[in-house]
Parts: sequence; C-alpha cells; structure tokens
Amino acid sequence: MNPKFCYACGGPLDNPDFKGPSENYCKYCTDEKGKLKSREEIKQGVAQWFLSWQPDLDKKTALIRAEHYIKAMPAWAE
Ligand SMILES: [Zn+2]
Repeated sequence: MNPKFCYACGGPLDNPDFKGPSENYCKYCTDEKGKLKSREEIKQGVAQWFLSWQPDLDKKTALIRAEHYIKAMPAWAE
C-alpha cells in the first residue's frame, strides 16, 4: 500500500497539487526526477508554506516551526 502522505513534509499525496514523480514524497520535496531534496531545502519550503497561510508570522518563527514540523516526518527519523 502506498503512503497517502509525503514522508518528508506530510503533504497529501492523493492531492494532484502534491503528487509528483516519487511514490513516497510530494513534488515539493523532490526534484523533477523524484529525488528527495535536502532537509534544509525542505525546511525552507515548509516555512514558506506556513507564511503563505499565516501572513502575520515572521520568517524566523516560521523557520523554527518548520524545524519542529519536519522533525516528526519519517524521512528525517534516524
Ligand atoms: Zn513533501
């Protein structure tokens, strides 16, 4: 069974806006060949995502929240 959520950011993979070339990761977390981007790149992306729906948030807080958020994702678990 395929996961329904991106292993790296939790994005919904049954949503065409998130579905990319990879089975396990959304298109925002991979390059065009389906290769997972770096944790730092994805953290920046998640921070941007937070800022897009919470315009009052400042960049620094968004990055701290993004760090906590992606820590819980299976792609980054040791
Ligand atoms: Zn993702």
